[in-house]
Amino acid sequence: MNHFLVGRHKKRLASEIGTIVKPHGGKLRVALAYPNRYHVGMSNVGFQAVYKFWNEIPDIVCERVFLPDADELEEYSRSRTPLLSLETQSPVRDFDVLAFSITFEPDELNLVRILDLAGVPALASERDERDPLVLAGGPITFLNPEPMAPLLDLVAIGEAEALLPTLTDVLRSASNRAAKLERLAEEEGFYVPSLRRASTLVRAKMGKRADFPPPATYVLTPSTEMSNKFLVEVSRGCPTLCRFCWAGYNYLPKRSFEVQRILDVARGARQHTDQIGLVSTAVGAHKEIVPLMEGLREMGYRISVSSLRFEDLRAELLDPISRSGEKTLAVAPEVGTDRLRFVIHKRVTNEQILEKTELIFSRGIENLKLYLMVGLPTERDEDIDGIIDLVGRIREQLLAHGRKRGRVGRLIPSVNPFIPKPGTPFQWHGMEKPSLLARKMQKLKKAFARMPNVDANFKSARLETLQALLSVGDQRVAPVLIRVARGEADLKRAMKEAGLDLDAYIYSERSPGESLPWGYIDNGMKPELLESQYDKARAAALTPA
Ligand code: SF4
Repeated sequence: MNHFLVGRHKKRLASEIGTIVKPHGGKLRVALAYPNRYHVGMSNVGFQAVYKFWNEIPDIVCERVFLPDADELEEYSRSRTPLLSLETQSPVRDFDVLAFSITFEPDELNLVRILDLAGVPALASERDERDPLVLAGGPITFLNPEPMAPLLDLVAIGEAEALLPTLTDVLRSASNRAAKLERLAEEEGFYVPSLRRASTLVRAKMGKRADFPPPATYVLTPSTEMSNKFLVEVSRGCPTLCRFCWAGYNYLPKRSFEVQRILDVARGARQHTDQIGLVSTAVGAHKEIVPLMEGLREMGYRISVSSLRFEDLRAELLDPISRSGEKTLAVAPEVGTDRLRFVIHKRVTNEQILEKTELIFSRGIENLKLYLMVGLPTERDEDIDGIIDLVGRIREQLLAHGRKRGRVGRLIPSVNPFIPKPGTPFQWHGMEKPSLLARKMQKLKKAFARMPNVDANFKSARLETLQALLSVGDQRVAPVLIRVARGEADLKRAMKEAGLDLDAYIYSERSPGESLPWGYIDNGMKPELLESQYDKARAAALTPA
């Protein structure tokens, strides 16, 4: 037993509320891995919902696994201890199933690291009956699991609510690894890379009525990005259908969790915290958002929201947030000109945005995050100037309200390069070349630096390149993923030595009709529709609602 590692795990457990610890004897043992640090993973409501689902089944024990912190990694390496689960500090490689929840492409590197730390062979083809069955689910797996497919025995493609019952049934009943995979390969939403037969794989999704308990923070801890905040998913899907947005296109149709169910889980958590965060692709699009907020306010919650669409912003939505003491809000203008905003299918003008930001500041919100993108199809220099102008005008509003209040807040533009996402109309569009992107980013950086009370942040170019490759890559990328994760080479060198052309993968335009690595996944959206949306964008046309 390694005292340092076991002690660290026990310390984390001691600070949690809601931990589930079950004896292992005679049960199916599932190690549920979030491929990032505890601090990040514990804010993920999907991960927490799966943990709860599996542990509610009497003959299953599910324990969490995270990428160790830096000092823990050193200790694992120094002491040659195999990676341990959180709840009982058991070796991960001794579990029957190792299930990953993947929500962010760069975390695929950590999937490799976790397999290595656990002593589980990285490639599915090298595993046998003695190893856990390695599977992955989560949003990234239903966009494009191909770069990590050779590492996985099984991929769950779709929403967990629709997949877990079948998955659980087969994992418990089939006699051995081969039988489990054979059976699951026949079921909707399951992809067995070693047995791939079907040309099309239908993504499984929760029904039209979201009549499941909403995913939420069932285990509370102070050691997360959202320290002791109870997070609950209120709806899924977004009707705006921005042409770059994977969430809009892959979570159709829009569904709202029932207000009563949300209030019930919130009531249960209220004794432990007075902070609640509402999570959704479009929180304000919940069909009963105002009564929901009123119900939460009556319980004494301080309410925050992940971000709000401009079309949902109205006083009756902002007031409960502001009255509960929240001072910061996030909105997404994405771009700086009406022309480009219509190209991406976000149907709101700069003037309408300014009306809404004025409303936000007038209702007592002091700080505003602005999500922005560069490198989008048809973007021109004047679109970058438009961002600077729009941020400047919103800043004027922030200053005017701040002066009246005697306390000026912050404007926080967050600028991300466009990355093509599978299953969207922009899936064919290449990412902007780094030199051009750097020039645009530099222009924005300089302009924002001259604006007091504006704290802009820009995503790292290195991370973006990796994310783009994993977003649109195919199975040939898997050895590159492994080498980069192990620190054997940087991305450029690993690609070159694998004989792969990074530029062709991420910067080149693909033509509709070309075979795509993720083309076998049917997300419910006809390819012709995506193509016509792409054509309309390039023609800068606005599709009627
Ligand atoms: S409004 Fe936001 S969540 Fe909705 S489609 Fe657009 S980017 Fe996606």
